Amino acid sequence: MTKVPPQPGPLTVDLVISGAAEIFCAAVDPSATERVPTSGGVAVDGGRIVAIGDVSGYRGRETVDAAGGVVMPGFVDAHTHVVFGGSRVAEYAAKVAGRPVPDGVPAGIVGTMTETRVASARELVEQSGARIAEMLAHGTTTLESKTGYGLSVDAEQKLLDVNRLLTERSPARILSTYTGGHAFAPGVDRDGWVRQVADQARQAGRDGLAEFNDVYCDDGYFDCEQTRTILEAGRESGLRPRVHLDAYSHTGAAALTAELGAASADHLNYTTDAELSRLAAAGVIGVYLPCLEYAVRHPKPLDPRRVRDAGMTLALATDICPGCWTVSMQMVVVMACRAGGLSVAEALTAATHGSAVSLGMDDEVGSIALGKRADLVILDVPSHEDVAYRIGRNNARVVLAGGHVVAVRDADDPARRLLARQGEM
Ligand SMILES: [Zn+2]
Repeated sequence: MTKVPPQPGPLTVDLVISGAAEIFCAAVDPSATERVPTSGGVAVDGGRIVAIGDVSGYRGRETVDAAGGVVMPGFVDAHTHVVFGGSRVAEYAAKVAGRPVPDGVPAGIVGTMTETRVASARELVEQSGARIAEMLAHGTTTLESKTGYGLSVDAEQKLLDVNRLLTERSPARILSTYTGGHAFAPGVDRDGWVRQVADQARQAGRDGLAEFNDVYCDDGYFDCEQTRTILEAGRESGLRPRVHLDAYSHTGAAALTAELGAASADHLNYTTDAELSRLAAAGVIGVYLPCLEYAVRHPKPLDPRRVRDAGMTLALATDICPGCWTVSMQMVVVMACRAGGLSVAEALTAATHGSAVSLGMDDEVGSIALGKRADLVILDVPSHEDVAYRIGRNNARVVLAGGHVVAVRDADDPARRLLARQGEM
């Protein structure tokens, strides 16, 4: 008598997403021999991805029907000034119309500094938290958040505390960047401020209130020597440098950025090809900010293909700030493709995996791979290329962080019914 081995039943896991027309994995080792699944679903257990593609062998305690859409990794926003007080809409409206900015309205970095200083930590958490909720709804599950609109030791400390509170309260993963080196408050003793920023950077690292330390190195902001002083101080307590590099002039700070092994060099508008190659050799990630360039009508937009061709890994970011109020990495992808000439796949990979590399988070997030955190976006469009094509639309229908649904678009819509909870068998 032959014994027939029992057929194994489906494996029960926390979540099964099925019915995807496309799974956009974002970072796949080209040398990998295994076939990359291009459709099907994703199974999740314990907040981690346990299967990709054919998920017929899994039964989910919770299921989501991707309904012919795309499953992609959550967006990673590598450069944000999401923590600020107030609004500069009056300044922006005047500028787009070519009118002088009216007296008495908040304008420029000083306008935001004033509004940020008068706001309490709780008010800033509310204002910034609302923006982060919108970012989540547009598919961003990991973001970097800079201080830098306080510009006094006390106000910058408040912003470090706001970052900590936001990290505790938001389902998004938030990495804190101390950016006392963002600007000089009017009338401040500049050398004194550089010393204070260096001290505070060192302390922020010791207190565990920041992962990164950023300086705005540009004409009228911090010069190379001041930038070095601040970044070296932060490194003493483990803060990795990020640099606002060459946004409005050529500073020559690319050499310093490479020497210090910065996590990222952002903007790069005036950086030369030779400097880009040097940054590439040092493993520095290039962060491209096309929405910011659009919002300020930048006189010399970056050609991101130069950054890529120099051998740098590209990252994308909103640069959300009072001068560029966008919550949407999908819009950044739109701009990176049309204004920057990237393919949609390149832009989406930069907006997920590239940004994750710049934040040192690529082992965890930024791609769909076995064992990675289940930070996922389900798009209600049939291909990843639709993200660049359907301009200005939020294509994210369901957003998951760590395997939990954290945002559903049109929650009252019949599509909400696609989210079905199943009892455990
Ligand atoms: Zn910035």
